[in-house]
Amino acid sequence: MPEGPSIILVKEATAKFVGKKVIAVDGNSKIDQNRFLNKKIIEFKSWGKHFLICFDGFTLKVHFLMFGSYTIDEKKPDRNIRLHLKFKNGEINLYACSVKYLEGDINEHYDWSSDVMNAHWDREKAKAKLKEIPELLICDALLDQDIFAGVGNIIKNEILYRVRLHPESMTGKIPKVKLNKLIDETRIYSFQFLDWKKAHELKKHWLAHTKKECLRCNLPIIKKQTGVKKRRSFICANCQVLYT
Ligand SMILES: [Zn+2]
Repeated sequence: MPEGPSIILVKEATAKFVGKKVIAVDGNSKIDQNRFLNKKIIEFKSWGKHFLICFDGFTLKVHFLMFGSYTIDEKKPDRNIRLHLKFKNGEINLYACSVKYLEGDINEHYDWSSDVMNAHWDREKAKAKLKEIPELLICDALLDQDIFAGVGNIIKNEILYRVRLHPESMTGKIPKVKLNKLIDETRIYSFQFLDWKKAHELKKHWLAHTKKECLRCNLPIIKKQTGVKKRRSFICANCQVLYT
């Protein structure tokens, strides 16, 4: 599933279509496609894992789900296009994603301060939200999009390893200093993820995700499905402290 930084990349790749009129639409999406035919794109935005195509008075919300993808100015062979938008200067093709309409002002639909990559990101708000869920495991809390929009499983695993925190720690038991560091890492690592992804070297920088041995301890890294979300965690039980 594309995480927040990957959606920023979509936004950058489509920037040349801002202010341009949609001159043709197609695809197997069930939404009313004629609604934005001959309409101009006002802006592209992102909120966590959502890619937002903003028109005057409404927005198309694109969620790439588990296997969604996109191409610009070309089509994937042998793949059904969910939504095709054609412009004079090129085209956007979306695959295997969910597309929905959001009505009215987009700012009414989203709290930008919960998106870890947004300029309005507010770490204090995240802290306050975590305080309300002391019994939730931190591996689940990090994947909660209402708290950390954009954080996915890779970011989760990497930052927990960085701050030496066990994914099954109870949120309310984690020392304040450590929790603050973790919250800050959500943003720091997301921007590093973006840079590395642009340079096509993201995997090279993984310290824990999919790894078999801890770089700090030379001990095995355990792979385990953790939390109620049952997502893969990669844990060094020696240096990632468990707070329960
Ligand atoms: Zn270790």
